[in-house]
Amino acid sequence: MAELNQIIGALRLMAETIEKNKEHLTELDGAIGDGDHGINMSRGFAFVKETLDKGGFQNAGDLFKKCGMALVAHVGGASGPLYGTAFLRAAMVLKDREDVHAADYVQILKDAAEGIKMRGKSDRGEKTMLDALIPAYEAAADAVQQGKSAQEILNAAKVAAAEGAVGTEKLVAQKGRASYLGERSIGHQDPGAASAALVLAAVADYFA
Ligand code: ADP
Ligand code: MG
Ligand code: MG
Repeated sequence: MAELNQIIGALRLMAETIEKNKEHLTELDGAIGDGDHGINMSRGFAFVKETLDKGGFQNAGDLFKKCGMALVAHVGGASGPLYGTAFLRAAMVLKDREDVHAADYVQILKDAAEGIKMRGKSDRGEKTMLDALIPAYEAAADAVQQGKSAQEILNAAKVAAAEGAVGTEKLVAQKGRASYLGERSIGHQDPGAASAALVLAAVADYFA
């Protein structure tokens, strides 16, 4: 499905997408958090871009490992270690592989969500990035089961993540800074769910 140079291309589009939406993510976080999610993500993905520019990747696992380490090291805030965990989980799925297949994508989404759950002591319904990521996993797994094409699988994940992110508006935040607002967090979209939807949209758009 995807070779190393295409994965690099998808990660570049991810970094660009985050940069383009920096203000938007910061505004979302301004409403229910401390207003730095766009800044945190943009900084982290600038280092991902730098990692990609440096190159020298042995395989897809090595690529994700280096990008994950860049995210952990450079994204301030709660989202850094969580996104970093997601990338490191992807690295473990891909290990010594040169290319990525549709089924790997589903496994990556599953393991990334599991990693974030463990690291964040969180679960779906708590108004976090998991409310975009878990529906994306389910939709992608469903699409694989139905024998859909790689592009359709990526798109199903993109659509489900976007819907999941919008769906966080009606949830009460139970993790992270937004949880301090309790019921007052209702009516606002979770910034981490919004960024997770953007990241998955970039992957689908790259391969479209
Ligand atoms: P901080 O809250 O430290 O300023 P960010 O603003 O960058 O960090 O990220 C906030 C986002 O991180 C939230 O919108 C939410 O999606 C996610 N998040 C925070 N805590 C958790 C957690 N325990 N589990 C999963 N996601 C979380
Ligand atoms: Mg914040
Ligand atoms: Mg912060």
